Amino acid sequence: MRDFSYLRANSIDAARQAAALPSAMLLAGGTTLIDLAKCGVAEPETVVDITHLNGLDGITVDDRGATIGALARMSSVADHADIKSRFPAVSEALWQAASAQLRNMATIGGNLMQRTRCPYFRDPANFPACNKRTPGSGCSAIGGVTRGHAVLGTSEACIATYPGDLATALVAFDATVHLGDRQIAADDFFLLPGTTPDREHAIEPGEMITAISIPASAAAGRSTYLKVRDRQSYEFAAASAAVGIEFEADGRTIRDLRVALGGVATKPWRVRAVEEALKGKVLKADIAKQASLLAIEGAVDHGANHYKIELAPRVVARAILKMGETA
Ligand code: FAD
Ligand code: SF4
Repeated sequence: MRDFSYLRANSIDAARQAAALPSAMLLAGGTTLIDLAKCGVAEPETVVDITHLNGLDGITVDDRGATIGALARMSSVADHADIKSRFPAVSEALWQAASAQLRNMATIGGNLMQRTRCPYFRDPANFPACNKRTPGSGCSAIGGVTRGHAVLGTSEACIATYPGDLATALVAFDATVHLGDRQIAADDFFLLPGTTPDREHAIEPGEMITAISIPASAAAGRSTYLKVRDRQSYEFAAASAAVGIEFEADGRTIRDLRVALGGVATKPWRVRAVEEALKGKVLKADIAKQASLLAIEGAVDHGANHYKIELAPRVVARAILKMGETA
């Protein structure tokens, strides 16, 4: 781990100014940053501690929606009574992420900014080729061990999966990321790798996440986050789905549906094709399973991750049918 200067920001403006310095990085819960610094991936010259900034850890929920400060802890949001009742998928996504200790430290802003778990990305000593870490150096994963890698949104430069759970739910329910005065739809905040996989978020030097907001909707109120993984806890998703559903008055016909996939794409993956295919239909197992196949349209595997192409539609169908059972 290389030496760095430590700067404790005492205002949002001071944090932003410091974040604009070359090789400066913000420090929130530190659960990602310190990890990446130890393995030689993050090499900040200046670490800007934002943990003492006031007013960034609030959680407010009303009839219009939820606003969550960037420094709110994952566990506080997951356990918030109004988030649980009005945005169950958001609470469930957070509860199924990481471990209790990590959730107590980690913040919502840091969670959105977490980096991929691609093992080649995280091992610069043994795998110098990684376009995300060192642009133009190549990709060690293509042709390597790909079990955890993405099948959607990949490029010839990078096939790394976006690992976060919360963002999948945020994208499903049209959340907004607040960068001070600038606001950006969560779906646009995460970037496809294309030819520049080193750029993962639509955030500029000198900007920081100050909050996220999620509009209230009936679909968000009846929602779930289903996460399938190699072990029951403390594991990233092999495939996951955030699903929200609103029925017509008959309790069977789908008026509104939201579906986003996690664990299978290079960014949180909204699947509008599934939503459109099912809107206006009476929910039944066979049509839900058929429509869920659309979730994986355009998927490309790299050998060992082929199973995700079968798994992802099953996860989507299960989540949709689970919401049907609660109707
Ligand atoms: P930090 O480590 O402080 O920062 C992370 C990054 O975000 C840094 O680059 C930092 O500069 C930047 N940053 C922080 N705050 C801001 C801000 N306000 N604006 C702009 N940039 C900012 N996550 C899941 O979703 N699901 C899992 O299953 C899961 N499992 C995990 C298992 C392990 C063992 C570990 C270590 C992590 C796991 N995580 C998982 C990731 C975890 O959720 C993140 O590490 C955590 O949310 C990061 O938050 P933090 O506050 O600690 O961020
Ligand atoms: Fe790097 Fe992406 Fe290739 Fe992983 S998949 S080695 S992050 S370029």
